Amino acid sequence: MSKVEFSVMNIKRCICPECPVQAESICAKGKWRLMQEIAWASETGIYFEADRVPGMYCSTGKALCKDLNPKKMCICERCPVWKENDLKNGEPSLYFCQNGESKK
Ligand code: SF4
Ligand code: SF4
Repeated sequence: MSKVEFSVMNIKRCICPECPVQAESICAKGKWRLMQEIAWASETGIYFEADRVPGMYCSTGKALCKDLNPKKMCICERCPVWKENDLKNGEPSLYFCQNGESKK
């Protein structure tokens, strides 16, 4: 079983914050705003704990925010992390925020 690396670089490349599934989520938006205000300028990674990041679900598992809308389209296929880690051949392959982290 491989695990997608939960790194600052991958957090910054994760496109979950742009995803329609999260678009109406007050919870995810709040995390995103805080992350940008506090942590984005910092390269230390200290701020980046899984429960503070509204993304990287392929690595960390299901979203803690409960107001996501899984009826919308997952956009992970467009993500460089998804491509690099060959997540299409993992299980689950999409909707990690709903289905949990990628297992290969
Ligand atoms: S594959 Fe999906 S969950 Fe994983 S980093 Fe990319 S957008 Fe985020
Ligand atoms: S895992 Fe997929 S569905 Fe969930 S927020 Fe990220 S891009 Fe959207």
